[in-house]
Amino acid sequence: HSISVSELEKLQVLGHGNSGTVYKVRHRRTSNIYALKVVKGDCDPIVRRQLHREIDILRRTDHPQVVCCHGIIEKPTGDFAIVMEYMDVGTLETVLLTTGTLSERTLADVARQVLSGLSYLHSHRIIHRDIKPSNLLVNQKMEVKIADFGVSKIMGRTLDPCNSYVGTCAYMSPERFDPDAYGGSYDGYAADVWSLGLTLLELYLGHFPLVSGPGERPDWATLMCAICFGDPPSSPVGTSDEFRSFIECCLQKESSKRWSAHQLLSHPFVCHAIP
Ligand code: ADP
Ligand code: MG
Repeated sequence: HSISVSELEKLQVLGHGNSGTVYKVRHRRTSNIYALKVVKGDCDPIVRRQLHREIDILRRTDHPQVVCCHGIIEKPTGDFAIVMEYMDVGTLETVLLTTGTLSERTLADVARQVLSGLSYLHSHRIIHRDIKPSNLLVNQKMEVKIADFGVSKIMGRTLDPCNSYVGTCAYMSPERFDPDAYGGSYDGYAADVWSLGLTLLELYLGHFPLVSGPGERPDWATLMCAICFGDPPSSPVGTSDEFRSFIECCLQKESSKRWSAHQLLSHPFVCHAIP
């Protein structure tokens, strides 16, 4: 049952991003609510490529912790739209802004869910490459789902014209800046684990871990220096041993020492979490 644009009524804007606009929409016939990501046909070629990659990945994934795609719409104008399940709480970024920092207990549950999604993606040779609070969606059931595959990579593809990275570099791992120093047996998957470690720490602290407070906005060079030459961020005094150890396993600068998503699913911080 394909969905056409004319059957969808726009209710509100959910977010703007690099690639386009995401709307909350209602399907007139069924009254179902969806999220609709719309990308203009006349957009930048890079954005267009990103969109095709995102569609490609959404089509081949099926997992409770990966946002579900209900259809792809292409208009004669060249505009593209992705019909997705609507996540009614928003993103972990909005959760942080509206309800404040997350407790270790909540974070353990978030970590377990994101790791489950990442482990699935990695076993399907997909690297997300842009894990951060605003790309992790949440619903009322406290389900967390990975979204926004615009800069993701499918491994083993020889035809990958766009290896350059577009997006924020704040959550990028040391080996992505400097593969020679931190790459070891660099395969790319470990970069998602680094980003998850930073994300969880941010949700605990209430600000990005590589800056000292909420208001600080460092430039690209400052961030790169902090990531490559500084010690990796660690969980603050007062946190549990399990949480501290978990963050340490995610934020190993040398990518080959970092635990994989699959390994982290059996880390005490996560597997002792009460769902
Ligand atoms: P971009 O590549 O433009 O960042 P995203 O897929 O991350 O695109 O979407 C941008 C924003 O739209 C998200 O940060 C989020 O606020 C909102 N959004 C995206 N998908 C959904 C969804 N399925 N349900 C609810 N909100 C969503
Ligand atoms: Mg995004």
